[in-house]
Amino acid sequence: MAFAGRSNAGKSSAINTLAQRTRLAFVSKTPGRTRHINFFRLQSGGIVADLPGYGFAAVPAAMRQHWRTFLARYLMERRSLVGLVLLMDIRHPLTPLDHRMLEWFLPSGRGVLVLLTKADKCSASERALALKRVRAAMDRIYPEGRDQLAVQLFSATRRWGVAEAAAAIATWLAGDAPAQKERPRHQGE
Ligand code: GDP
Repeated sequence: MAFAGRSNAGKSSAINTLAQRTRLAFVSKTPGRTRHINFFRLQSGGIVADLPGYGFAAVPAAMRQHWRTFLARYLMERRSLVGLVLLMDIRHPLTPLDHRMLEWFLPSGRGVLVLLTKADKCSASERALALKRVRAAMDRIYPEGRDQLAVQLFSATRRWGVAEAAAAIATWLAGDAPAQKERPRHQGE
């Protein structure tokens, strides 16, 4: 499965938490530093492809374009992917590039798990509202992906949503995700 998200969204922390080991992925203090794919094996046997964080303004435009093309092709063409975990800072969800990721991956018919990260930084009512808003936006914008998409709260620091996310990933790995239905993939690009 692929893990993707805006730089600094909390992707490395989530991978480390879900892999139940520390420092599997380097937790960078500098947003946008990761410029390659790291692969990690989960205890459940699945392999995580840690895709480069996107949306970091200080990266040169040519580099941004290169990674954007790369991410598009990876998400559209990598047939071994069983699902996509998309990380969004709960305070800044659904950026334009987050939508690109969804547009590229949803045609695969496979599952997408959106983790609203750093949920501990919000109050209980803010968390509930953010979750409701993102779910409603997903339903509205991607009605065809309704069976594929799940959105949940997550905090690596507090370990909120870890069991839930691990269960979703386990379902993908077991091969009985609702996303297994055949759909044509986008060609080219
Ligand atoms: P990445 O760039 O997406 O891989 O993000 P990192 O995992 O490196 O996290 C970026 C920053 O957010 C770091 O300073 C982390 O300590 C912090 N962070 C990550 N997850 C959480 C969380 O669940 N709660 C809080 N409060 N901070 C977090």
